[in-house]
Amino acid sequence: MKSMMRALVLCAAMATAVAAASPAALARGGLQGVRIFIDPGHGGPEPGAIGPSGLREADVNLRVATVLRNCLVEYGGATVKMSRTGDVDVSLGERTAAANYWGADRFISIHHNASYNRSYNATETYAYTYAGWTALDLRNKVHRKLVAGLGLPDGGVHTANFYVLRNTWMPAILTEASYISNPYQEARLKDMGYTWREGYYIYLGITDHFGVAP
Ligand SMILES: [Zn+2]
Repeated sequence: MKSMMRALVLCAAMATAVAAASPAALARGGLQGVRIFIDPGHGGPEPGAIGPSGLREADVNLRVATVLRNCLVEYGGATVKMSRTGDVDVSLGERTAAANYWGADRFISIHHNASYNRSYNATETYAYTYAGWTALDLRNKVHRKLVAGLGLPDGGVHTANFYVLRNTWMPAILTEASYISNPYQEARLKDMGYTWREGYYIYLGITDHFGVAP
């Protein structure tokens, strides 16, 4: 709860900075009526990738997802559901079913990558192998904001046959904003401010996709 409050404060500070730069950004609530399903990857007994000093991908995914939810709701006026809001086990089938039966307009799965090459680090964003243009547009715009904002090497946009992308009925993307296996990156991902920014950049990509002010 405490971290949620702090995330809101950060979103407010960043939105103010954006508003100062662009009067158009003062318009709020451009995502009203839009249903966005956020899926923080892993959780519970399934921690996802583990950083060199033990940081769990599942925890980082949830922190980023929570900031994204707060920005979408507080500034975009969107309606948001999450596949999990705590460190719990939710199967892939349950995640996609929840989004499908809710009737989500977009599905955003948040992950962080890992490589045996610990020096490797990059931002990568995915859509389904047979994604339509709407999902590709969302993927491309979120990727652009993540690369510009985080400043990591651009690992490119990709298509993949991931379960959550294949089994969702709405345009869906999956972010791998960085590699938790890189010790320098793991240190950044421990910093709340860093993960807050990552969530905010994903939010900026979504508003860009819908053509509305952040
Ligand atoms: Zn993952």
